Amino acid sequence: MSRPKSDFDVAIIGAGPAGSTAAIELARSARTVVVFEKKRFPRDKICGGCLSGPAVTCLQELLGNERRLPGIPCRRISFVIGTSRLECNPSGATRIALRSELDACLTDIAQQEGAEVRYGQTAQLEFSDASWCVRVGSECIRADIILLAAGLGRQINKLGISAQRTGRRLIAQQWLQPTNIALPRLGEVELHWLRGGYVGLATPNQDQCVVALASEAVGRDGESAFERLRRLNPDAAIWSALPPDAPYRFHAMGTAGFPWLPNRLGIGNVLLIGDLAGYAEPYSGDGIAQAMSSARSAARAIMRDRDILACYSSLIRRRHRRLVQRSRMLSRLLRTSMVHGLATRCRVLPENLLSRIVEYVHVKGTV
Ligand SMILES: Cc1cc2nc3c(=O)[nH]c(=O)nc-3n(C[C@H](O)[C@H](O)[C@H](O)COP(=O)(O)OP(=O)(O)OC[C@H]3O[C@@H](n4cnc5c(N)ncnc54)[C@H](O)[C@@H]3O)c2cc1C
Repeated sequence: MSRPKSDFDVAIIGAGPAGSTAAIELARSARTVVVFEKKRFPRDKICGGCLSGPAVTCLQELLGNERRLPGIPCRRISFVIGTSRLECNPSGATRIALRSELDACLTDIAQQEGAEVRYGQTAQLEFSDASWCVRVGSECIRADIILLAAGLGRQINKLGISAQRTGRRLIAQQWLQPTNIALPRLGEVELHWLRGGYVGLATPNQDQCVVALASEAVGRDGESAFERLRRLNPDAAIWSALPPDAPYRFHAMGTAGFPWLPNRLGIGNVLLIGDLAGYAEPYSGDGIAQAMSSARSAARAIMRDRDILACYSSLIRRRHRRLVQRSRMLSRLLRTSMVHGLATRCRVLPENLLSRIVEYVHVKGTV
């Protein structure tokens, strides 16, 4: 039986950094592209809003010289562990942006390049006539390739792909908070490493600070990341900057399940990109770079037009290995109880060494 004709070369589910990056690259190389996004933009999402060096490089390449980069340059990153504070000056190589701004910027470009973006449309995968297609309400859309860029852990079981356990599950939260004197100043980022997780603060404009928390999901039932971190670290300095009933007074988001590592990167005419292709941890602030990098690898594999899944898998392995190794190194280092104990007991940490590692992981590097 011959396969029905496709409506598009590529259909993409999800318009986060991964979905939009792929849409831009593919539309630029004359592929017909449709993107389904269940939310209406601008929308927020759990994220610290820190654009690492590799993410900024990737954005610059996508946006070219004529368009303004989203957000503002980051002028200081401080790491607070116990009573120690380490500082790193990224010299403008990293940026801070609201996710609503970043994601809207990328989808705008995708549309300018010719991709069709359908907001407010929740898409599902459906298997029919020997291949996967996209179901939106009563409509069934066919595409030669479908990129699943829907964020962590969605729609995978249907494909027969499972996620491996890579460590303790983490939960996360985010909200936007009016700036105050105890929060980082404009263009500054502060990461507070606590027992069981972290609180990240970033100030991308005069009025708002992004507060993002992640914590291991072990503890009392129904306990939020905020409640758990506060219970485990009652004396941490960070709490004086946040309202006691956070996150309920301000804009609050839900929880996310990670680490996440799928046992394969696609099946049939479907490829997984972005967080869905593997997401280890948010400690290094490198998830956006990894999402964009996987999208570009998928776009390259599609443009080659043969052995797409094998080509994508090999590219992603090669290009991601360094990125992931770098971010895991920082994550592991800062989460060890030895470093935490050392920082709590003595006021002086091997500052140069740690700042160098942070710089290596978050600021430097190419995607
Ligand atoms: C607490 C925390 C802090 C973080 N901080 C940072 C940071 O500072 N810097 C950084 O680089 N990374 C950070 N990250 C990671 C970063 O947010 C992700 O890696 C990145 O958003 C992944 O992009 P994505 O495009 O794969 O998925 P997402 O950004 O999650 O986008 C997925 C999109 O798909 C849409 N969607 C889902 N299901 C459907 C459906 N069925 N139909 C249509 N649309 C659908 C969603 O609405 C969403 O818009 C953080 C993560 C956490 C949890």
